[in-house]
Amino acid sequence: MIFTPQQYQIPDRPHVPFIVPEEIERILAENASPAPERVREVVERSLSRHRLSLAETAVLLNADSPESRIQILEGARRLKQEIYGNRIVLFAPLYIGNRCINNCAYCGFRKDNRNAARRTLTDAELVRETEALEDEGHKRLILVYGEHPFYSPEYIARTVRTVYGVKKGNGEIRRVNINAAPLDIEGFRTVKEAGIGTYQIFQETYHPEAYRKYHPSGRKADYAYRLTAFDRALEAGIDDVGVGALLGLHDWRFEVMALIRHTNHLEACYGVGPHTISFPRIKNASDVKADGLQVVGDEDFIRLVAVLRLAVPYTGLILTAREPAALRDELIAYGVSQIDGGTRLEIGGYSSGTEEQDLNREQFQLNDDRPLNEVIASLVRQGRIPSFCTACYRKGRTGEHFMEFSVNGFIKRYCTPNALLTFVEYLEDYASEEIRNAGLELAKNELSRMKESGDEKTAEETECRLERIRRGERDLLF
Ligand code: SAM
Ligand code: SF4
Repeated sequence: MIFTPQQYQIPDRPHVPFIVPEEIERILAENASPAPERVREVVERSLSRHRLSLAETAVLLNADSPESRIQILEGARRLKQEIYGNRIVLFAPLYIGNRCINNCAYCGFRKDNRNAARRTLTDAELVRETEALEDEGHKRLILVYGEHPFYSPEYIARTVRTVYGVKKGNGEIRRVNINAAPLDIEGFRTVKEAGIGTYQIFQETYHPEAYRKYHPSGRKADYAYRLTAFDRALEAGIDDVGVGALLGLHDWRFEVMALIRHTNHLEACYGVGPHTISFPRIKNASDVKADGLQVVGDEDFIRLVAVLRLAVPYTGLILTAREPAALRDELIAYGVSQIDGGTRLEIGGYSSGTEEQDLNREQFQLNDDRPLNEVIASLVRQGRIPSFCTACYRKGRTGEHFMEFSVNGFIKRYCTPNALLTFVEYLEDYASEEIRNAGLELAKNELSRMKESGDEKTAEETECRLERIRRGERDLLF
């Protein structure tokens, strides 16, 4: 079950860049046009709860026949349903400021974009934004920053503490993640002390040449410094990190292989893989200067998600509102485990109530601008249980996704009950009458399923806590 470290051209050592493009390209070429039997074998291996090697991942990425495509999608769907069930975790991004010293060709915040309206939230504005998010029912946020000396580790830590301190009605933010430029070890220690959940950063492209092309200047031009950011974060004691690649800068198959290679590097050096993987596709932005993009079409994108699900079954997969609602719904079935809801990219956009998108005020274009209550209503209609759970992180159970996957009964004992508790809190405090009734019915059915599967004791304990929630208690986590 546990992944066995492999031998690579550059052996995995902390702080040593590990991506060798020729190596990834060679493994892809060696596994070109796989026979359907080989594809079936690899899918079966994943379904029997094995991490896939780079070679096996290459088999799935190269499986282009319609028959193999179906096998991969069905395999991912089965794995997702059998292991993770109906839960889907919800969060929102909160943009703190868009000052930036870099010139990433694809980003509306880049330094040379004179059309960008530059803004950083004041403390009072940050409080108002957090209150607005709490009023919607959010419990988990990711704070997002441009790269600028103003956004120092101390500044980031202060914003994190400010958000944790905002309580409105029954509202509170219980987990604050961050997406910020790479720091040194000392800087990571500073943000860890503020109590961050996940530290997330995307390599954008793992291909060094493409990286150079799209990141011409500024601190971000240093590929190796970014690639080894998690080594520093983990060394500083942040054991919960989120990797990602911005799809469209280079060949998507290469990027998926590199994401798995990055996972292997962290496991080999630190005994822990990334908590989540993100795979945003490039969207339209203000005054972009990116040419030669390798746009990833929907069909490939769907397969990519299914392959990631099969290759790293115990890593969370995040899909954001960059993608339209219908595609997001489909991809939840193939393995996505976290989505954002009610997202506003404009700085100050949650409290200003502006509905219109204006690319000069936003980093890129959103394609799912439904408010959180609509996202939830749609999930409920599909029989999915929205979860605002933050229990493992707060109970010190780190590596929760790994445990979900590997510890017998973990999902039944912790994940499903905690999803139900946080969902019913949401229904009590923020939902319309109609959604509340439909949601309570869904929760009841889930409890019945728990009982039928022999989990009487947990079901009863959950029912008892749900009753306490109905009487006004909150945050009754397992
Ligand atoms: N400034 C920091 C950095 O670059 O790492 C952190 C936050 S940046 C605002 C968040 C992410 O947005 C980037 O890592 C990039 O992958 C993504 N992004 C930038 N421009 C985008 C675009 N046009 N479409 C989709 N995603 C984009
Ligand atoms: Fe700045 Fe980040 Fe945008 Fe690059 S992606 S221009 S570093 S905000």
